[in-house]
Amino acid sequence: MEFLKQNIKALQGVGPKTAQKLNRLKIQTVEDLLYHFPRDYDDRRNVKTINQLTAGEKSTIFGEIMGEARSLPKRGRLSILQTAIKDDTGKLYLTFFNMTYLKNKLKPGKIMMVSGEVKRGRYGLEMVNPTFELVDTMEREEDPDMILPVYPATEGLKQIQLINLQRSIADQVQKDTEDYLPQRIIKENRLCDLNFSLRNIHFPDSAKALKVAKYRLIFDEFLLLRLALLRIKQTVSKDLEGIALKRMAEFDQLLNGLPFRLTNAQRRTLEEIVSDLNKDVPMNRLVQGDVGSGKTIIAVLALYLAVLNGYQGTMMAPTEILAEQHYISLQEVFQPLGIKVGMLVGSLKKKTKEKLLEVIASGEIQIVVGTHAIIQEGVDFHKLALAITDEQHRFGVRQRAVLASKGINPHVLVMTATPIPRTLALILYGDLDISIIDELPPGRKPIKTYEKKLTEKDQAYHFVKKQLQEGRQAYVVCPLVEESEKIEAQAATEIAEELAATYFKDYRVGLLHGKMSPKEKEVIMGEFKGGEIHILVSTTVIEVGVNVPNASVMVIENAERFGLAQLHQLRGRVGRGAYQSYCLLLHDSKTDIAKERMGIMVETNDGFILSEKDLSLRGPGEFFGTRQHGLPEFKIANIFRHMKILKQVEVEVQKLLAEEETLSLEAYPRLKKKIEEKFEGLNDDISFS
Ligand code: ADP
Ligand code: MG
Repeated sequence: MEFLKQNIKALQGVGPKTAQKLNRLKIQTVEDLLYHFPRDYDDRRNVKTINQLTAGEKSTIFGEIMGEARSLPKRGRLSILQTAIKDDTGKLYLTFFNMTYLKNKLKPGKIMMVSGEVKRGRYGLEMVNPTFELVDTMEREEDPDMILPVYPATEGLKQIQLINLQRSIADQVQKDTEDYLPQRIIKENRLCDLNFSLRNIHFPDSAKALKVAKYRLIFDEFLLLRLALLRIKQTVSKDLEGIALKRMAEFDQLLNGLPFRLTNAQRRTLEEIVSDLNKDVPMNRLVQGDVGSGKTIIAVLALYLAVLNGYQGTMMAPTEILAEQHYISLQEVFQPLGIKVGMLVGSLKKKTKEKLLEVIASGEIQIVVGTHAIIQEGVDFHKLALAITDEQHRFGVRQRAVLASKGINPHVLVMTATPIPRTLALILYGDLDISIIDELPPGRKPIKTYEKKLTEKDQAYHFVKKQLQEGRQAYVVCPLVEESEKIEAQAATEIAEELAATYFKDYRVGLLHGKMSPKEKEVIMGEFKGGEIHILVSTTVIEVGVNVPNASVMVIENAERFGLAQLHQLRGRVGRGAYQSYCLLLHDSKTDIAKERMGIMVETNDGFILSEKDLSLRGPGEFFGTRQHGLPEFKIANIFRHMKILKQVEVEVQKLLAEEETLSLEAYPRLKKKIEEKFEGLNDDISFS
């Protein structure tokens, strides 16, 4: 068996217990171990004497153990061991947590080489849990591994164990590893070879070598994933038999009879979709369009085509409020045409639901809108040809796939208003074709955004009042309370009561929050849409999709608590009609970042610019929140930090595509094999078959 594929248990010194601990680090095979990269390095070339140490810096020193190690009183469950070492210039304390077993090892007179961060302790300088080795002399040896890896560890596994394991496999790895990248790619992208990178990522010869090694491994991670995604896209569209939907005269009648003309961007997107639907391979398309760019009508037209061809269509939204809105919009269009639309949400009564499921299964209902309820078991379609998810950023890849599985290779359309830079889209949606609606319907006046201190509330609400006097409506968004929907709901209730009792005595104030029943929400939304409610006080439940064109002003309280992307989504609830609209950010910004965010909101209405800024402000991780995108985790690459490398990878991908459009990679068998091995199973996760 290939060395890399062997179970770690086959390695010398790995017994069942160690294996178990390694498994906890998701290390099963030698290859997993090899790709368990250091999270940091101890640079031991910079050896100092004790009097040269500075608190806060990482350093390495040699010292002689001065006396027996002492156990200090336990702190909670922490056992503490302390010792001290000296050299000619001074004394350094070492403190170890939960490592009492060291007591027998750290004997007076022994010499230690110690690396770690220096801290100012109670008695003087100290290091806490430093890495160390017992050595023979105080002299610095010429050690080939002067930069030592520091691994993400787990309880009970010592760094030195991991280091030794890596050392033990290194030689065999070097012998067994063949580079899977062709020379051309290596040369043109000025990469080092694979063996060099795998050796140096663990035991770098120099800082430069480490940098080069990292670069190669990051490049590879991006490249392999991109190629895997593209190949899935190829197979999905190549092998599956889809449902060819014909463009019918009725379709163009509806299109030409719309109360407005589609924008050029909408038209282009629609043509792309119709052309996809027309083929007998399933569509997999993402429509990205800023809030208010008019995605719904595109969905409506696509659904119509499915129905005209004798099939069913479905549209899934992330919240009941949004599903409800879509239901209303769809009814407006489809009822006059005699097309039956059903709404499937979690809160339906059991009886109603059962009846609905029956008519969905029989095909009597032609279009189904709803929430996650649609992807539950027991929901069966008669002949589903088109599955749409709205506001895709709220759904995981899995859910998209489950929705598609409700039919036999249906066309899949996902719509999102979270604009992300193109390079990111390639990774996150690399398996989809992308259409972009980069134009707002004409006549839209850009929303005017102002920031005000919370203390200037008075001014803000007087402004709102003026808008109401002109016949408009308003939203007030309450402070975000991440931890608790209940507290958030309370805050909203209080604000609503206060506003109704003070500024807006003569108006009807409505309240909407996540703790209300769907029925209650529906009633409130209905009244707001109908103009009976003038001001809607709400939590972020209105964040996506809500469409009330007469609402022209939004106040966001404690705007500093929201991220840029979220503020932009919220702001998108106004400016949906022909009226000049306003967004007032009431904030109490203490940090520079919060202030900067307010500034950016005031400056621009463009979601794409905003998302790029958001990215650079917030940095990695947070941008997508906890959203599941269903992609495998990267070991070393980071889509935010390594954007430049990602761009370079993209250039290479284009070259490969130009060489061979189907990316079968027959010319590069090793690369092909690597991708197939690495992404075994990915296909099931993210394709739509
Ligand atoms: P989003 O892209 O945020 O989902 P919607 O589809 O809800 O946007 O559209 C926002 C509003 O713009 C709706 O009231 C819709 O009827 C209207 N609209 C869409 N397209 C056009 C257009 N081409 N011209 C004028 N109004 C449009
Ligand atoms: Mg929408």
